[in-house]
Amino acid sequence: MAFIGIDKGGTRHTLVLADAAGTVVRHVQHGTDRAAGAAGELVTLRADIEALLAEAVALGTPVRAIGISFGGPVDVEAGVTILSHHVPGWEGVSLRALAEEWSGVPAVLDNDANVGALGEWAFGAGVGCRDMVYVNVGTGIGGGVIANGRLVRGQGSMAGEIGHLTIDPAGPPCTCGRTGCLEAYAAGPGVERRYQERTGVARSGREIFARALEGDIDAKAVVTDTADYLARGIGAAVCLLNPGRVVLGGGLSETGAQLFDPLNAALPRYVLPQERDTRVVPAQLGYDSGVRGAVALAMERVE
Ligand SMILES: [Zn+2]
Repeated sequence: MAFIGIDKGGTRHTLVLADAAGTVVRHVQHGTDRAAGAAGELVTLRADIEALLAEAVALGTPVRAIGISFGGPVDVEAGVTILSHHVPGWEGVSLRALAEEWSGVPAVLDNDANVGALGEWAFGAGVGCRDMVYVNVGTGIGGGVIANGRLVRGQGSMAGEIGHLTIDPAGPPCTCGRTGCLEAYAAGPGVERRYQERTGVARSGREIFARALEGDIDAKAVVTDTADYLARGIGAAVCLLNPGRVVLGGGLSETGAQLFDPLNAALPRYVLPQERDTRVVPAQLGYDSGVRGAVALAMERVE
């Protein structure tokens, strides 16, 4: 048996054909044509799915299910996309039903944070962990929770939104419309804003981390504070879920020990004494977490 995993991101979509163990045997990628909108992307997606289905038949291992990661909010139960922040026309698209109609096999649709969590848990930094928290820090902060070996979705597919834990209600505005969320402090724009507040100079997150290594006092303070804000949010998740491991992915995780060392040093301050050994580790799959997670989603559907 085989599975198809699809990662529909903001700037490209990736599909893989995977064998019964989830190992990728074929990889296809197409850039997003923003002008063609959702309608144009659906045409390309359908052609890519049909090509992989044919390839699976040729290999003698027919596809049993399709998993889809979508880069935006989705209604998991209905299998419908709510919108894409990057490509117009994705409002209310029954993507799961379309994939099932094109392929004749069951499909599952979920958002990219949840699917990324599943990917790291099944094939990456979370392997062997029964309970795991996943945090993705980039221009925003997304998250996903695996409890008892299952993805936790919540009543309205909203579980795992660690980026919107409140750090300080009197804090800066957040993209969600509230104030003082973890995301407003520790995602890329929050890091840049805090540096600018201290120095009056606008720099990218990458530059701020580089300057901290070179000894810039303000940049060092911003990095230390970033680790501490993340530790507060992650500490709340650890107190709630007692995970075996916390996996941190996204652009900020690429800073390596510069972030992970102060983060792991700060975390014990925000958890119970019995949880002081809990570690935050880097994600291992990079951009593949979505498409590998989509394979895991398809495998879970057939289980
Ligand atoms: Zn928020």
